[in-house]
Amino acid sequence: MKLSNRLQRIHDQIPEGSRMADIGSDHALLPVAAIRSGKAVSAIAGEVNPGPYDAACKQVSDAGLKTEITVRRGDGLDVISPDEVDVITIAGMGGALIASILDRGISKLKGVQLLILQPNVGEDILRRWLLEHQWVVVAEQLLEEDGKIYEIITAMPQASSPIANEEVYRARPLQGDVELTQDLLLRMGPYLTDRPTEVFFAKWKSEIVKLQGVVQAISRSDQDSSKDKAAEVERLITSLKEVLACLPKVKQ
Ligand code: SAM
Repeated sequence: MKLSNRLQRIHDQIPEGSRMADIGSDHALLPVAAIRSGKAVSAIAGEVNPGPYDAACKQVSDAGLKTEITVRRGDGLDVISPDEVDVITIAGMGGALIASILDRGISKLKGVQLLILQPNVGEDILRRWLLEHQWVVVAEQLLEEDGKIYEIITAMPQASSPIANEEVYRARPLQGDVELTQDLLLRMGPYLTDRPTEVFFAKWKSEIVKLQGVVQAISRSDQDSSKDKAAEVERLITSLKEVLACLPKVKQ
């Protein structure tokens, strides 16, 4: 079984010998790979939907790993108990959905030492949730696969993190008056902006095009509030362009 680069990168972040839960596991590819490689000693594959749940059960059974991997049907972190796992992976969903899964299941995060999260969109929403709930982003990755760009965000509880959130989101002065503010770091990623690769620039070029589309769409409305919103998005576009112009390009 060959993992996609995206799932492989997530897999590689799991510490050896972890008890993991993969929420929204679909075909349970990640738990199967993690058990086979020794990254995980036990795994829970959580799925809310019947089709993917059945697919996960079949995958685990075919792999002969029913002792090591439990497939559980349920919403988000409902499928785990406090102190049951050390590592949670949640991948392939929007950042807002991942944040809401963490928020609704916050009591289940007791004992969890690492969150490895791969939002497809809405990374800023997820980083804000982590910041507001005393989780510290300790690593970020950006990769392109099959024409899509993915971010992987790894976070630790504040109490065990080697670095504090104050440091992670400390505003960075760039050239002239340009500053990477906390808001921009939450959007663009504090580690990704420290080592901006070609993929990073490609991502933000495309995000700016999307934001310009948002401005055009809002501008068609006559409401005063729409003018304010359009001006706010335009300010954001200007800030993003200024930051991108100041950041050095790092080879991947
Ligand atoms: N994690 C896999 C990956 O990254 O390749 C599968 C991603 S798939 C696009 C998203 C999966 O999350 C679907 O199988 C869906 O059923 C599941 N899902 C969505 N919301 C969920 C929730 N609240 N709790 C558990 N699973 C959920």
